[in-house]
Amino acid sequence: MTSLLRNELRFGTRALLRDNPLSHWRLRALQRNEALTRDQIDALQARLLHKTLQTAIARLPCYAHIARDFAPAAAADVLRRAFPIIGKESLHARRDSLYPNRGDKQPWQTLGRTSGTTGTPLTIFRSVESLLMEQAFVKRHWAWGGFRDGMVRATLRGDLVVGIGAAKPPFWFWNRYNRQLLVSSRHLTEAHADAIIERLAQLGPAMLQAYPSTAFTLAGLLARRGRRLHIPLVFTASEPLYPHQRALIADRLGAKVMDMYGMAERVAFATECEHGQLHVNPDYAFVEIVDDDGRPTDGEGYVVGTTFHNHAMPLVRYRLSDRTRWLPGQCACGRAFPMIGSVSGKFEDAITGSGGAPVSASVLTFAFKGLENIRKSQVAQVGPASWEVRVVPLPGFSYADQQYLVDNIHRLVDPHVAVKVVVKDDLPNTAAGKFRWVVNEYAPDRSHTECIAAMPATPPSSSS
Ligand SMILES: [Zn+2]
Repeated sequence: MTSLLRNELRFGTRALLRDNPLSHWRLRALQRNEALTRDQIDALQARLLHKTLQTAIARLPCYAHIARDFAPAAAADVLRRAFPIIGKESLHARRDSLYPNRGDKQPWQTLGRTSGTTGTPLTIFRSVESLLMEQAFVKRHWAWGGFRDGMVRATLRGDLVVGIGAAKPPFWFWNRYNRQLLVSSRHLTEAHADAIIERLAQLGPAMLQAYPSTAFTLAGLLARRGRRLHIPLVFTASEPLYPHQRALIADRLGAKVMDMYGMAERVAFATECEHGQLHVNPDYAFVEIVDDDGRPTDGEGYVVGTTFHNHAMPLVRYRLSDRTRWLPGQCACGRAFPMIGSVSGKFEDAITGSGGAPVSASVLTFAFKGLENIRKSQVAQVGPASWEVRVVPLPGFSYADQQYLVDNIHRLVDPHVAVKVVVKDDLPNTAAGKFRWVVNEYAPDRSHTECIAAMPATPPSSSS
């Protein structure tokens, strides 16, 4: 009962904050940007970037020496010339100069946390305005699929909505304020799947929000029961979406799957459109793609982003471990938002095969096709050219299946890599309820661009 009351309060308050005339106004303003030409987008970006850089120079000691007397039209130039690329390690090492207020959060700011799946957890100060803008950007994406406020949706992410040890339904919470069924992803197990599937079938939501891994688990449970649901839209986010996951989700949920790329640091946001293209949202952040030396590249490189909307802690030229490339041309959807290729698994998750060659996670998935008796798997690099494939088996998983998997890897992925299959009882999710399919436990040699080392020599500002 107390958890029910807590949920009522939590989602009631959240709806009050997020769904009001002001939030509808924000969404409509963002939707108008979809009709802008490339030139108009450039002008909008110049204005937003100028504002962020002015705030950063005024509030963060790391940038206090940079002159502020430049016009919006020069903002992108100033960014590249005067602001070094920083990374997560810079934020840890230089908290006193890269966080506002010397690293002490103000009471009116909220705290964002990275889950630590890619290493050390990180905290980010967020303004209330940035939280509301985030919501508006997400809703703009939902509208691309035809989902509007008032329609029924289900959510299958990390929300703890019932006790983790609950053994009887409900394994969900009905948020009446947003017509949203929050399903406990921790109860997506053989033992509780029937109850969850029945509830979803009865509800008939227009849309499901999920992690790729949780939607895929649901699809797998449906497949093993020979069942299907009819949920027209599935929005995935927060993890890479592998092709084999997308295919099974689309098939078993009868869904159009639309993926979204974002991160806790909120320095880049890309959304998949009706035509399957991933568009960087140019009114969300200033996104660059750079090579290993920090220079802009048209080839594959690291995503570097500068916030437009979180002025509580202006992250400028923050480098992520994600890699992608710009795609040329104009999308059939008509939006002039730039397109990128699929975002590769995180740098920390990249693994190598024989000869030290990088191995694509998407290619790796081919080795698992046609293997029915696996509940969950994980591929870990444990040494040079040495992988451990961890398998949580279903009844019927045999030595022949193990051999088939090894043969598949040698046949479809890498002929010479050493592969060992290890059978496990479970493969745990992280505390945030996420799951990493490809992990590298063989410490790679990593190099990062340091903030301070790259600090340019610019005369102190005379205007501030
Ligand atoms: Zn498009």
